[in-house]
Amino acid sequence: MKNPMSTKAYAPLASNGKEDILKIAIQKSGRLYDDSVKLLKDCGIDLKNGVNKLKTECDNFPMEIYFLRDDDIPQYVEDAVAHVGIVGENVVHEKNKQVDIVEALGFGKCRLSIAIGRNEKYDSETFLQNKRIATTYPHLVTQFLEKKKIKAEIHEISGSVEIAPGIGLADAIADLVSSGSTLFMNGLKEVETVLESQATLIKNRHLEPSQVKILDKFLFRIRAVRKARNNKYILLNAPNDKLQDIIRLLPGMKSPTVLPLAEAGWSSVHSVLNENDFWDIIERLKEAGAQGILVVPIEKMII
Ligand code: ATP
Ligand code: ZN
Repeated sequence: MKNPMSTKAYAPLASNGKEDILKIAIQKSGRLYDDSVKLLKDCGIDLKNGVNKLKTECDNFPMEIYFLRDDDIPQYVEDAVAHVGIVGENVVHEKNKQVDIVEALGFGKCRLSIAIGRNEKYDSETFLQNKRIATTYPHLVTQFLEKKKIKAEIHEISGSVEIAPGIGLADAIADLVSSGSTLFMNGLKEVETVLESQATLIKNRHLEPSQVKILDKFLFRIRAVRKARNNKYILLNAPNDKLQDIIRLLPGMKSPTVLPLAEAGWSSVHSVLNENDFWDIIERLKEAGAQGILVVPIEKMII
């Protein structure tokens, strides 16, 4: 039963107290933890910093957060112990559970790659024929090899995959790579990419309508936060005779805002720039006569 004295700022969506909370599972520690917590906070979801690190509630959003090992998250979401979860695509596809990917989240980027000794000669995937490949991703690697019609021996190991060739346990490995420095330090080189991965939001396939409603609200916030992270607000001063050239360089959400400055013959131009072509456009703006350029982060962006 709901506590009538509850100070929660949101209105419960269901009266039976069962379906009015969305339970989300995130990694309890590791590479996805910081970005997952940051995403929730940027979405305006206040996590209580309790000592109980298995789960925490929120005061201002109908969400309960469970802290779990990333490998367990797909199973928990399939079983509806958590309704949604944040986990790498690599884990989602390896575990192959009955869950849906709802949204790519843009962090935790890496790839599952096959690597071999740096001095080996590699022409094509036929190099892997009848070789021993050590990995923590047997399902994904088997699928990859089947597609390429390669027969190899897969050795499933649970950690420190990169040392397997050095100790004679395997001829090749399949492991997660981001910069490649771990492979390099272990005398290995990347030869095939099995999967490109990033953190994703997954969901249970049988959510109650009230849970779908909370998920939609959460997704709306995620998209606004991610859009804002990829864009910057730009303000600059322009002499009026250069205004048209400058405006042509700026996309803006609709079109740039132009306001007259107190000094005659000058205007202030405001716009939104995408991070990808940011530096290129700034240089061209300067060349076109823009002055006093200010760039400001955007907190939320709703289009
Ligand atoms: P847990 O204790 O939760 O099982 P773990 O040791 O399996 O943690 P981490 O090393 O923290 O997991 O990696 C979690 C996820 O981070 C990976 O499944 C992957 O999606 C992502 N990731 C991003 N870059 C890398 C990388 N260079 N190496 C490993 N994982 C990476
Ligand atoms: Zn793990």
